[in-house]
Amino acid sequence: MEKKNVPELFGSMVFDDRVMRSRLSAKVYRALRKTIDENAKLDVEVAEAVAMEMRDWAVEKGATHFTHWFQPLTGVTAEKHDGFITPSPDGGVIMEFSGKELIKGEPDASSFPSGGLRATFEARGYTAWDPTSYAFIKDHTLCIPTAFCSYSGDALDKKTPLLRSMQALNLQAKRILKLFGKEVKYVRTSVGPEQEYFLIDKEMFEKRPDLVYTGRTLFGAMPPKGQELDDHYFGVIKPRVTAFMEDLNDELWKLGILAKTEHNEVAPAQHELAPIFSTTNVATDNNQLTMEIMQKVARKHGMVCLLHEKPFAGVNGSGKHNNWSLATDTGVNLLSPGETPYENAQFLLFLCAVVQAVDDYQDLLRLSVATAGNDHRLGANEAPPAIISVFLGDELSAILDAIKTDSPYQGKEKEVLKLGVHVLPRFSKDTTDRNRTSPFAFTGNKFEFRSLGSSNSIACCNIMLNAAVAESLKQYADRLEGAKDFEAELHDLIKEVITKHERILFNGNGYTDEWVKEATEKRGLLNLKTTADAMPHLLDKKNMDMLMAHKVFTESELHSRCEIMLENYCKTVNIEGHTMVDMVRKNYLPAMEGYLYSLAKTTSLMRSVSENVKCNYEVSTMERLSELTDAILDRVEKLEKALEDLKDFEDIIKTSEAIRDDVLPKMEDLRKYVDEAEMLTSEKCWPFPSYGKLLFSVY
Ligand code: ADP
Ligand code: MG
Repeated sequence: MEKKNVPELFGSMVFDDRVMRSRLSAKVYRALRKTIDENAKLDVEVAEAVAMEMRDWAVEKGATHFTHWFQPLTGVTAEKHDGFITPSPDGGVIMEFSGKELIKGEPDASSFPSGGLRATFEARGYTAWDPTSYAFIKDHTLCIPTAFCSYSGDALDKKTPLLRSMQALNLQAKRILKLFGKEVKYVRTSVGPEQEYFLIDKEMFEKRPDLVYTGRTLFGAMPPKGQELDDHYFGVIKPRVTAFMEDLNDELWKLGILAKTEHNEVAPAQHELAPIFSTTNVATDNNQLTMEIMQKVARKHGMVCLLHEKPFAGVNGSGKHNNWSLATDTGVNLLSPGETPYENAQFLLFLCAVVQAVDDYQDLLRLSVATAGNDHRLGANEAPPAIISVFLGDELSAILDAIKTDSPYQGKEKEVLKLGVHVLPRFSKDTTDRNRTSPFAFTGNKFEFRSLGSSNSIACCNIMLNAAVAESLKQYADRLEGAKDFEAELHDLIKEVITKHERILFNGNGYTDEWVKEATEKRGLLNLKTTADAMPHLLDKKNMDMLMAHKVFTESELHSRCEIMLENYCKTVNIEGHTMVDMVRKNYLPAMEGYLYSLAKTTSLMRSVSENVKCNYEVSTMERLSELTDAILDRVEKLEKALEDLKDFEDIIKTSEAIRDDVLPKMEDLRKYVDEAEMLTSEKCWPFPSYGKLLFSVY
């Protein structure tokens, strides 16, 4: 086998810092670096110089086209390719790419969702270069990460508010650090998203219209074997999957994506990939790319990569863990407990900021992961519940408790714990990470938000998280900046925050019914079960005020986003409903009818040969199947009616409620009868591959 040179491969298709440093003049490099690190304005001349080098580099690597690569609100990435070629006077062509083309693009954007932000007469939008995320080459095309806005300047994408939220957090975190005597260039959030997915055989996939149209199975009886043996989790990886993973790693490494660990997950055919963390903005771009490349590479290996949150009923769905932390430009992790009393106080303040943020903005965090697909997971005893709470682990909780009650921590110290005087007791990182049921867990030096669905863009939750933490920090900075006695004020502040927000702290098992009861009835926490319940909270006054105060969203952007997300939910379920109707009418009912015919024919033939045959199997099966065809017909008609009643989604809130209360229950009801029929019908007559075939199709 050919030996791989990973360091050489890594980032070979990225116009990264190494390339910039070696190819750009010192002056241009410095100017660009200043833009990247400190958000300084970029000169046109600098852009020209960068564009020229980018083009030369890309052409050397075999690129023929360039594209502004962006993340519209569809949830996937968009690109429109333009050739570098420009005619030259001698009848040939030259490869051209200007600074203007680098900085700004004008995709025909009229078909991207805008939630009313872009009037149809002004259908244009523009894309603007984001120099903080490196350009890269994919499929012979130079891809330039960009933000996507309307002509009036409203954000039409996920990157713009994410960058704004990072700015907001940077601003407030720097104020806090200054109070602790630290001047830093910037504070950034870092993220490492762990990505789950399913791999199934391509031939099987193509035989299932539900998978093709909706990404999930809408029917399917349980196979004899599911995940009950837990034999897949961390099990030996099958050769076809190994080949896929190797290929995937190569492709990701070329793009400078730090794919690091991969293993089998709980469900059969389920796997996970975790990268090394990076700056949130880059991590977001990289996760979008990872999802895209996973699907592409899987196809090459005769498989399909399913990123849906719940491709199969009855087996675990797929999520994504957003590992999140804050760090300074000097590489100090602000969520790492420090070495000195002063650093500990600072650590506790940042910790409090996150705890308060999660409590104050539970609804924003919940809705940031709300999609039709993810609704199937949250609260289904395989993923964290829809209730948002924070896990800190016993040791850290005990420390906070000691501070709150002015009592000695674990009796180790004779005096009570006083911030700014005492070093915090060391707590081990390992004990903090073993609660898998918590949606938001502290894991030693970072928080892990576990409610994300596998197909979610991580931009959404990080926008909300950054903004909410910025708000806590702002409140703290406002108070502490004016304090006469900083240390006393700090101590009081931390005590107050712990007291006020301890209701959000929960170290127990989040999957139990008792927790749901306690959380909602005793603690008053929100339990927003579905997208239809969660999304309208985006427009609650407290949420809008906060997001607008930190300049993360404008008022019109918030309205448009709420509408788009709800529309997305409605459209998704609407397609699922229609797919069910289609499959039932065109395939399931005719298949059952065919089998009934053969049963009936067999019975009458057998009886004509002998009077002694009982035909118990034939007759009882026929009777039940016939009842089922009637029941299925009735349920499919009801579903059709419910879908028809949705009309044109005139009122999106009402429509989403009808989807939740009417359409989804009817889909579930219909499925029940079809799945029962599957168990009574000969496999030869059944029109689609079974769960067993889908889940155990890859060797
Ligand atoms: P585990 O969850 O098994 O303890 P790790 O702690 O190594 O594993 O990390 C899981 C994910 O968290 C990885 O993607 C990793 O890069 C990311 N991660 C680790 N440290 C940080 C950090 N400071 N900020 C953001 N993400 C981090
Ligand atoms: Mg983890």
